[in-house]
Amino acid sequence: MAFAPIVVVGAGFAGSVIAERFNALGRSVIVVERKDHIGGNAYDEEHDGIFVHKYGPHIFHTNSRVVVDYLSRFTRWTPYEHRVQASVDGALYSFPVNLDTLEQVFRRKFDEQSAEAFMKTQRVVYSPPRNAEEQVLSLVGPKLYEMFFKGYTTKQWGCLPTELAPGVTARIPLRMNRDSRYFSDSFQAMPSQGYTALFNRLLDGVEVVLGSEWEVGARDWTGAHVIYTGPLDAYFAHCLGRLPYRSLYFEFSEEQAYAKQKVATVNYPKESVPYTRTTEFNHFTDRIDSPITVLCREFPSAVGDPYYPVPNGENETLRRGYKELAARLEDVAFVGRLADYRYYNMDQVVGRALHVFEELVRKGW
Ligand code: FAD
Ligand code: UDP
Repeated sequence: MAFAPIVVVGAGFAGSVIAERFNALGRSVIVVERKDHIGGNAYDEEHDGIFVHKYGPHIFHTNSRVVVDYLSRFTRWTPYEHRVQASVDGALYSFPVNLDTLEQVFRRKFDEQSAEAFMKTQRVVYSPPRNAEEQVLSLVGPKLYEMFFKGYTTKQWGCLPTELAPGVTARIPLRMNRDSRYFSDSFQAMPSQGYTALFNRLLDGVEVVLGSEWEVGARDWTGAHVIYTGPLDAYFAHCLGRLPYRSLYFEFSEEQAYAKQKVATVNYPKESVPYTRTTEFNHFTDRIDSPITVLCREFPSAVGDPYYPVPNGENETLRRGYKELAARLEDVAFVGRLADYRYYNMDQVVGRALHVFEELVRKGW
């Protein structure tokens, strides 16, 4: 039986993983990407041994053995545990909030038990929390909410925390120990030669057309199966209304200097500062002794490329409408952060792509 060719729209993690899988089956695969490079938002470029992430800092972290085993076929890893400080009124605090943060903010000593008891006096519990504000208040109370979360969230999303799903801020833990890592996952590392090298290996032997809009060429490929990883509503020409995506503007600086930050990322939660965070890429692959430092500032923006789905009830309803339209299409599969309209990390996108691939093969694609 002759198989239909596979057209993959987008060369980010979702598209590249599915393309690799179909290519490994010996199928005819073509990837169409509107950018002039592969890798989607995970794309990076090397500057003197420092990997500069052109779409903001990307730290790989996961609890999925399946995802690590799969990606390890295309990259080696450099262990890396991400650390973040929050800059508030000129002082730097360990973040996410842990015992060190509590001691600095409340100017007293804590151990696990006393911190637990103290946090009970701080919390304003909503059960269950209906939005991001209620989620943070339930976890840490108003003082820490005002210091670390309210301004950052308002800037990042361009709306009040009350207008966002609780899952947005629930990404950030509260720790009753001195673990100052940003993530808690069992596997935390960076691809040793960068993300772009990883993508080059994923797409080795696959035909990739860069700088090309899917709408321009692919509609002519009648009979092909399509994997679409772009924005969900754009596929349907926004016929049910626009799904909001939050964007960012990145400001890069490269200087002949030693590392400027003690940790890779400094968050700026106050609204008086127009950016949310500054990341120094040297830390990712242990290049803090380099005489060159490369930093990136992130300015949230309502306009620009779509980077973040905006999780809330209204958008979820609209998403469901589009997903119903998507389910009616026999020859198109929707995968990834933009196409699923889900606030996925890279590992979740890879896991999802591997799962969808298995389903499509079962369907006879
Ligand atoms: P994308 O990478 O967006 O790829 C989709 C591709 O489709 C794009 O290249 C796009 O150009 C292309 N495309 C869209 N429409 C068309 C069209 N019509 N024609 C042709 N091409 C099209 N995750 C982590 O795990 N750790 C992190 O530290 C982390 N940090 C992040 C920081 C920032 C600032 C951002 C924005 C995201 C971060 N993420 C992080 C999330 C991560 O970027 C995503 O989970 C992942 O890259 C999504 O992959 P994707 O393939 O679904 O989408
Ligand atoms: N957040 C915050 N203060 C911080 C860091 C995060 O209020 O210092 C909130 C904010 O709403 C943010 C969300 O937690 O959008 C998730 O943070 P994360 O660092 O996971 O965001 P990402 O890396 O995906 O941009």
